[in-house]
Amino acid sequence: MSGPRPVRASRGTALSTLGWQQEAALRMLQNNLDPEVAEHPDKLVVYGGTGKAARDWRSYDAMVRTLRTLRQDETMLVQSGRPVGVMQTHEWAPRVLLANSNLVGDWANWEEFRRLEHLGLTMYGQMTAGSWIYIGTQGILQGTYETFAAVAAKKFGGTLAGTITLTAGLGGMGGAQPLAVTMNDGVAICIDVDPRAIERRIEHRYLDVRADSPRHALALATEARDARRPLSIGLLGNAAELLPQLLAEGAPIDIVTDQTSAHDPLAYLPVGVAFEDMADAAAKDPAGFTTRARESMARHVEAMVGFMDAGAEVFDYGNSIRGEARLAGYDRAFAFPGFVPAYIRPLFCEGKGPFRWAALSGEASDIHKTDRALLELFPENESLHRWIKMAGERVHFQGLPARICWLGYGERDKAGERFNDMVAGGELAAPLVIGRDHLDCGSVASPYRETEAMLDGSDAIADWPLLNAMVNVASGASWVSIHHGGGVGMGRSIHAGQVTVADGTPLAGEKIRRVLTNDPGMGVIRHVDAGYDIAETVADERDVRIPMREG
Ligand code: NAD
Repeated sequence: MSGPRPVRASRGTALSTLGWQQEAALRMLQNNLDPEVAEHPDKLVVYGGTGKAARDWRSYDAMVRTLRTLRQDETMLVQSGRPVGVMQTHEWAPRVLLANSNLVGDWANWEEFRRLEHLGLTMYGQMTAGSWIYIGTQGILQGTYETFAAVAAKKFGGTLAGTITLTAGLGGMGGAQPLAVTMNDGVAICIDVDPRAIERRIEHRYLDVRADSPRHALALATEARDARRPLSIGLLGNAAELLPQLLAEGAPIDIVTDQTSAHDPLAYLPVGVAFEDMADAAAKDPAGFTTRARESMARHVEAMVGFMDAGAEVFDYGNSIRGEARLAGYDRAFAFPGFVPAYIRPLFCEGKGPFRWAALSGEASDIHKTDRALLELFPENESLHRWIKMAGERVHFQGLPARICWLGYGERDKAGERFNDMVAGGELAAPLVIGRDHLDCGSVASPYRETEAMLDGSDAIADWPLLNAMVNVASGASWVSIHHGGGVGMGRSIHAGQVTVADGTPLAGEKIRRVLTNDPGMGVIRHVDAGYDIAETVADERDVRIPMREG
C-alpha cells in the first residue's frame, strides 16, 4: 500500500523519463508536493484549502510511473488527479492533459462535490495545485504587491507609508499579504487562527513579528504607521471575532481585505469552534459546520462593511467571502467590490497576467540569470525593474527556484524565446518550465472575481476558458488543464492553465512563440469582445486579429 511520504523533485540534468517535457511534468508534480512548497503534503494538499496535486497516493504513484515511460508521441490523461489513460498523439501535442473538479452545472455545488469526493471519484484541483505549476507563496506575491500598489495609487498618493491594512489568512496565498504591504511601505495586521501559519510566514520572512493580543498589535501598528515605517504583524485569532471587536473599538484602519479560505466553508473556522477541533468538527457534521462557517463569514463581512462605512478602502480578495456571507443572509455583502474590477482589469485588457517560470536544475543562479535577461529585454518597464529587484532581495525560494512577474501580450513570447535561447546556449544549467496561474486575463470565467462586472454583462460566459485551453493544446503547450471551482469555490468558476517547457530545442522555441502569443492573446480578444477601449487599442497596435472588427 502506498501512503504519505516526503516528496521532492530531482534536480540537475539526469533524466528519469524519456524527454524533458515528461521530466518537467514529473518534477513539477513532485515540486507541488515538496514540504517546502505544499501546505499539507501528507494529504497531497498544495494550497487553497483542499487544493490537491493528485487524488490519492495510489494515483500519485501511477502518474509518476506513467510519466517515467511516456514517449514523445504519447499523452497522459488525468481526470481529477488520477491518470486514466495514455493515448498516442504527436510531438506537438501536450504530454499531459488534465481536467480537475469539473461537474455539470446543476450538480456543481459543494454538497455534490463532497459526495463524489468521498466516493473517491474526484478531487479539488484549485488552480495551480492540480495543474502542477504552484511555486509557493511567491506565485501570488507579485499580484498581491501590484494590487496594494494600485490601492496606494488610487487612494493614498502612491504609497502605503503611514497607513494600516487589516486582513486575515496567512496560508499559501494569503501569506503573501504582509510582504506585499511592507513592499509598498505600509503596516499590516494579519489575523490567522493557525499558529503554524504565523510561524511559517515569519520563518520565510514574509511576516515580521507576532503580536500577543489585539491591543499589542494595534500599539505596534500605530507606532510604525506614525514613523512611516513598514511593519507586518501576525495576530492569532478568529477574524470573525477580531474584526468586529477592532471595529467596535474604533481601530484606525485604512485598508481592509481578507484571504481566509472562505471559498470552502469547511476550511473557514466558525466562531465557537477551537482551531484544534476544526478538522473533526468539519468531518463529523459538514452541513452544520457549513452553516456555522457562513454565519461567521457574515459577521466578518459585516465588520468589513463597517470599516468601509467608516472610510476605509475595502475589497474582496478573490475568496468568495461576499458570496458566502450573502448565503448566510447578510444583505450588504456586496457593498464593496472585488479586486479585479477595482484594480486589475486594465492590466487584463493588455493581456497582462501572472507569467511564471521555474528552474528544473534546482539552481537559484538560473533564476538570477533569467531576472537579468528580463531587465535587459524590457529596459523601459519601471515597475518590472522595481519588482525583480525586490524579489531578488526578499523572496525566499520554496522548492525549485522560480520567478513570477506580470507580462502582457507581445512580452511573454519574447521572454519565453529568450529563455529557450539561454537553455540552448548553455547559459542555464537545465531547462525551464514556463507557465502561469489560472487567474489570468483570458483563461477564466468567474463572476465573483476575474470576470466580475464585465462591461457587457458577460460575467458567467464560460466559453472563453475552454477556448483558451483548446488554443493552448493547438499551439504546442506541454501540459494543459481545465478546472472548475478554483479560488472561489464550486459552481463559481471555470478556468484553464498551460505550462510549456523551454528545453533549448528549436521545436520548443516554435511552440513557445505560439503558446506565449496566443495564450495572452485570449485576454486581449476576450476584453475587446466585452467592449473595453484599452483592449481595442492593444489589439490595433499589436495586430491581434479579431474578425468582427475586420471588413
Ligand atoms: P490556505 O487554506 O492555505 O490558508 C487559509 C488560511 O485561513 C489558513 O491559514 C487558516 O488557518 C486561515 N483561517 C481559516 N478560517 C479563519 C478564520 N475564521 N479567521 C482567521 N483565519 C482563518 O488558503 P490560501 O491558499 O492562502 O488561499 C486563501 C484564499 O484566497 C482561498 O479562498 C483562495 O481560494 C483564495 N485565493 C485568492 C487568490 C487571489 O488572487 N486573490 C488567488 C488564489 C487563491
